[in-house]
Amino acid sequence: MMIVMKEGATEAEISHVVERIEKVGCSAHISKGDLLTVIGAIGDRDRVAALGLEGSPGVDHLVPILKPYKLASAQFRKGARTVIELAGGKLGGDHFGLIAGPCTVESREQTLEVARVVNDVGVTMFRGGAYKPRTSPYSFQGLGVEGLRMLQEAKDQTGLPIVTEVMDVRDIADVVEVADVIQVGARNMQNYTLLSELGRAGLPVLLKRGLSATLEELLMASEYVLKEGNEQVMLCERGIRTFETAYRFTLDLLAVPVLREMTHLPVVVDPSHAAGRRDLVRPMSLAAAAAGADGIIVEVHNDPEEAICDGPQQIPTEEFADYAAQVYAVAEVAGKTVSRV
Ligand code: PEP
Ligand code: MN
Repeated sequence: MMIVMKEGATEAEISHVVERIEKVGCSAHISKGDLLTVIGAIGDRDRVAALGLEGSPGVDHLVPILKPYKLASAQFRKGARTVIELAGGKLGGDHFGLIAGPCTVESREQTLEVARVVNDVGVTMFRGGAYKPRTSPYSFQGLGVEGLRMLQEAKDQTGLPIVTEVMDVRDIADVVEVADVIQVGARNMQNYTLLSELGRAGLPVLLKRGLSATLEELLMASEYVLKEGNEQVMLCERGIRTFETAYRFTLDLLAVPVLREMTHLPVVVDPSHAAGRRDLVRPMSLAAAAAGADGIIVEVHNDPEEAICDGPQQIPTEEFADYAAQVYAVAEVAGKTVSRV
């Protein structure tokens, strides 16, 4: 249930509604807009209805949310869109953000070189994995804490916010020291313990769609983060499994406009992992920007041939300026303001 407060409702009136909701064993999520405050009551709907909150001071009206995802639903924010703002760069709403960097942190030189190039071109965030979810346990698993240190150095040198993945709740404490955004990989989209813990970690979360997850399942996963009071979630379409084998995954670009209808959360597209091949990354990036994506996360490497993982799909640093210029041009055609740090 959504409780829409009157314009000018006082803090005392808002707290009173929250107390009453919590008293019946439900949780209350306050969302403050420019004019109105909306309180989401999550839990047993009948119990909330029985409170008769329509009559409480400061309450304007009640709206039942019929979707199973409540806090993520577009209805919950009454048309307002979530914008993630870091180091002056914005992603979401009318703002387009480009997140670029290597698949994985391999060495200090590689990390700093890619960070320097993408920063010179002008991006919104720098990506790089220190903990890597690999299909084979025999593949490189990431540099862990040592990799986090390299990301910190990249951040110190460029000022770019860092996006990096965490796979295990035991690593959260180390990762939050360096990360500005925590990535949850496709394979962990339904790791509910991890999601709840990240909801309490206080950093924005980039949540990738599972390999065979529906959009509703993706939104339900985001709900695990949101319900802990963390409203800073970005969703990421990164390709799903279909019967097609001619490319790595099927990039579901219809998910962009459809998710933007279903939710207020920003929608990011990862063309790199879907395509698996660099020559396909650019056309898919342009298509994602044209479809209205709020951002793109793309892999970039200074020496893709020597990359430890995902070499064939990483954009060489020499081509990045040209790539970004094209992506930005299309994002602007789609009505976005490009946001650089
Ligand atoms: C990644 O972004 O580094 C990654 C492993 O992606 P995904 O979880 O989408 O496979
Ligand atoms: Mn990768």
